[in-house]
Amino acid sequence: MSASTPAQDGPQRPDGTPLPVQRSESEWRAILDPQAYQVLRLAGTERPFTGEYEHTKTRGVYRCRACNAELFTSDAKFDSHCGWPSFFTPLAGDSVMLLEDRSLGMVRTEVRCASCGSHLGHVFSGEGYPTPTDQRYCINSVSLVLEPTSDP
Ligand SMILES: [Zn+2]
Repeated sequence: MSASTPAQDGPQRPDGTPLPVQRSESEWRAILDPQAYQVLRLAGTERPFTGEYEHTKTRGVYRCRACNAELFTSDAKFDSHCGWPSFFTPLAGDSVMLLEDRSLGMVRTEVRCASCGSHLGHVFSGEGYPTPTDQRYCINSVSLVLEPTSDP
């Protein structure tokens, strides 16, 4: 790519690199059901205590429902009693990206998939949960698909 190439104006990560998975909103609408589209692409929030993975203990990997990227593992899932699946860390530091969210009159840290940019939830710190990080990645069930581990 030469220096004269126009900057790509597609979705980018905060560091300016383009997202590896890019689709138009009409493509997303076609592959996601309406509730998943509302959360993943419009940064909606599923109602608390309703998501399919809130109490799930099944071992496995949680993937992005939009692009299938691996995001979280069951090893980092804990009971937060907040109404949504909660993880104390993502699967890898670069599997999610964090953005400042000033909606609803609060300053929160939004969690998005680092592969496709879809909204996953928010992360909160210093709440006193007895986890290794004292962080709570509060993630919508509808943003995730659990791939169970097949134990021998
Ligand atoms: Zn994704």
